[in-house]
Amino acid sequence: MDHLPIFLQLHGRPVVVVGGGHVAARKVELLLRSGARISVIAPSLCEDLLGRVDAGELTHTRAPFDPSHLDTAELVVAATSVREVNAAVSHAARERRIPVNVVDDPELSTFIFPALVDRSPLVVAVSSAGHAPVLARRLREQLEALLPARLGALARFMGLRRKAVRSALRPAARRSFWEHVVRGVVGARVLAGDESGAQKAFERELYASHVTSSASDRGLGEVYLIGAGPGDPDLLTLRALQLLQQADVVLYDRLVPETVLECARREAQRVFVGKQAGESGAQQRINELLIGYARQGLRVARLKGGDPLIFGRGGEEMEVLAAHGIPYLVVPGITAALGAAAAAGIPLTHRLVSQSVTLVAGHVLDDDTLDWAHLASPHQTVVFYMGVAQLARIVDRLRAGGLASAHPVALIERATLPEQRVFRGTLATIAAIATEADVNPPALLIVGEVAALASADALLGLAITQPGALA
Ligand code: SAH
Repeated sequence: MDHLPIFLQLHGRPVVVVGGGHVAARKVELLLRSGARISVIAPSLCEDLLGRVDAGELTHTRAPFDPSHLDTAELVVAATSVREVNAAVSHAARERRIPVNVVDDPELSTFIFPALVDRSPLVVAVSSAGHAPVLARRLREQLEALLPARLGALARFMGLRRKAVRSALRPAARRSFWEHVVRGVVGARVLAGDESGAQKAFERELYASHVTSSASDRGLGEVYLIGAGPGDPDLLTLRALQLLQQADVVLYDRLVPETVLECARREAQRVFVGKQAGESGAQQRINELLIGYARQGLRVARLKGGDPLIFGRGGEEMEVLAAHGIPYLVVPGITAALGAAAAAGIPLTHRLVSQSVTLVAGHVLDDDTLDWAHLASPHQTVVFYMGVAQLARIVDRLRAGGLASAHPVALIERATLPEQRVFRGTLATIAAIATEADVNPPALLIVGEVAALASADALLGLAITQPGALA
């Protein structure tokens, strides 16, 4: 190891920053977060630092650097643009055995600043000891994406309850209890910003652990109803990714591609629960599986294409879980209409062209409960899910409802997936186009003037629709 990573307690401690420009200002901002008492030595200050002096956040000595400025310092940062001055600061600090950092100059420094992921009180520091700052920053970015934004809140939540756990549980039971808090529904709720829900779950679980207090009892599991997005794994939410990496079992639908499943924890058991068309009793079997796994104490990820609460029967699963007292969490996903619109370059609303969007299930036309007169009015966008098999009938009804034969539509098959195909046409032409091209589910029909915006194709020509291709 080139450097020893340590975390300094600087609350109220005197720290000297030499330099008054933007580089110094950035270091001051960081040091202030640690609660240090800062004095800045510089003949003049940039605006940012002047503002902080006015706000009483630091003191300023308006003078060129002199070694005596370091007499009471416990930590020194040199951030001037003149190497001789930085060298003098470094020299004076070393003489006084005070740790010194010269910005971007490891040779003159006795300590370096790591790249930070700050989820205070939880902090991750990354350093390549100056060998490859770009690599360290990249790692920092990856961690930044991976670590939930509210991780700090979770650390605080746990810190405030340590005493309660200590008095309720024997030492042997504490660790597995905390593990359960971090990985289970309590942690998930804090990370989702629901602290009062987390508190309730915490009390329930602490009580259960207290009563059973046996290591073999895994307690009640939980279910995450996760939206897998339209198909491209990059369109998963960060929370979906985090929970997939914790799950013991993943129950997934036909719409969820392998590339998304690969984001789940490697050891997780995968269970395919896709329904065949016309299959009855399938939902009942899924409900039973969810309850069964949760009762074994497992963390169950229920992965659904798009968003779980849009044509995903997520509502029914929530009802069943609630009825059985199984804790669950819903993680929204990008629904197919949004994925398809972005991928095809079609704005779902557009000034003066379309002021509303309606999402319609297009497969249940027989027991016709849809308001076709409404769906057939202009200046709006209507998106039909599950409509491929009924395409001709949808078109007929819209025309019967009053829409012109030339009314623009687009049909998007397997949106955001590598095999995506986009077909544009009109109410008069789209059924023949679909037959000719043999369009199959999953596909969406977008009906509205937005599907024919002159800009749509032009925009698409410039838009990068497969970001991965650039990597
Ligand atoms: N919960 C999902 C919808 C499930 S219903 C969501 O929010 O997206 C299934 C229908 O969604 C399919 O028949 C199709 O109409 C649409 N769909 C899902 N993924 C799609 C994709 N990648 N491309 C086009 N349509 C898709």
